[in-house]
Amino acid sequence: MHNLKAIDQETIKILNQKRIIQLLYRKKQLTKQEIAQTLKISIPTVISNVRELIEQGFLDETVVGESSGGRKPVIVRFLPDSKYSFGVLITKHHVRIILTNLNFHVIEEKIFHAVYKVNEFNSIITIIKTEIDNIIKTNNIPIEKILGVGFSLPGTVNEENLLLKNAPNLNIKNVCFKDFQKDFPVPLYIENEANASAYAESFINFNHVKNSLVFLSITDGIGTGIMISDNVYKGYNRRAGEFGHMTMVKDGRQCNCGKKGCWEMYASKNALLEEYNKAFNTKDTNLKDFMEMSKNNVKAKAILNNYLDFLAEGIKNIILTLDPECIIIDGEISKYKSLIYTDLKNKIFEENNFYDKKDCHVSFSNLQGNAAILGSALLPMKKLFFLSERIV
Ligand SMILES: [Zn+2]
Repeated sequence: MHNLKAIDQETIKILNQKRIIQLLYRKKQLTKQEIAQTLKISIPTVISNVRELIEQGFLDETVVGESSGGRKPVIVRFLPDSKYSFGVLITKHHVRIILTNLNFHVIEEKIFHAVYKVNEFNSIITIIKTEIDNIIKTNNIPIEKILGVGFSLPGTVNEENLLLKNAPNLNIKNVCFKDFQKDFPVPLYIENEANASAYAESFINFNHVKNSLVFLSITDGIGTGIMISDNVYKGYNRRAGEFGHMTMVKDGRQCNCGKKGCWEMYASKNALLEEYNKAFNTKDTNLKDFMEMSKNNVKAKAILNNYLDFLAEGIKNIILTLDPECIIIDGEISKYKSLIYTDLKNKIFEENNFYDKKDCHVSFSNLQGNAAILGSALLPMKKLFFLSERIV
């Protein structure tokens, strides 16, 4: 019994410290009384835990202002530069690397073009490792201050075993990141790109995010991250949320996953670009010209309208299956929110017997296309901030 009690106290201490550090991350600075009141824990508990967190370097305390007699008020501050984290986002054509502090302030960023061929993924990792080594050197950061390197990957991921099981859009399968660990000076973490985005959206944008959230990452394909009560829902085999590959058209367009008629073949950014390039005999790789054209050109308008029909159909299926409080859309398309928001919402909430506009809040990400990369940098910070492993 004695042992059990000791473990419980240690667990409670760790939980209290995570709650204090998460609260101070959000509020930046508070008095010990304010911490005690907000978290509903005793002042002595706050004092002892704050002392330990100061020793660990995450917090400091300072005297502020004048007091009217008695002791001067002491505030506890969060120190965002106490640790750093690397985030790596791997997409079909590019690799993006960032170094951030605990406030997600990007200290340095690198981006390079990448081509993925079977059995050549190792060479990409070697480039990433060299870039990270250079960033550490040029910024003169002690290695013990770096929590790790987090990877956002466009595919099915077993984050515990560091295994990228399948990434159809990169044409790679069964890549074990444990094999790369020996080459890096800090721990590696991996996560599906949409799940990492959902983490970032709910953690960094905490004021906007409600109880349940589906994050829709509309890029080369469509990734979805599902968060329920602050936990990522992954499913029994850790592949929940593959909405991008739900069948939208029976025997439809051939998808990289092997199936036909998947949603992402009609509603991803690539799908829209393909329709546009085919219709106008162009080879654009971004949506800027097309979206501009869609304001006046009838043909472009029709392509966009057809695209939004498909996008809305998938979102309607998500609302019917998960009934989430909010759906957040991210990707290049979110830059053109003002052009598509009203039409998209009308299509999603057209008259039906199940739900209306007030039942689900559909919006665009405030992280301006950075959710996946910031989410990757958040992965090494998970142990520091989160109370649970946040996986269901
Ligand atoms: Zn597919």
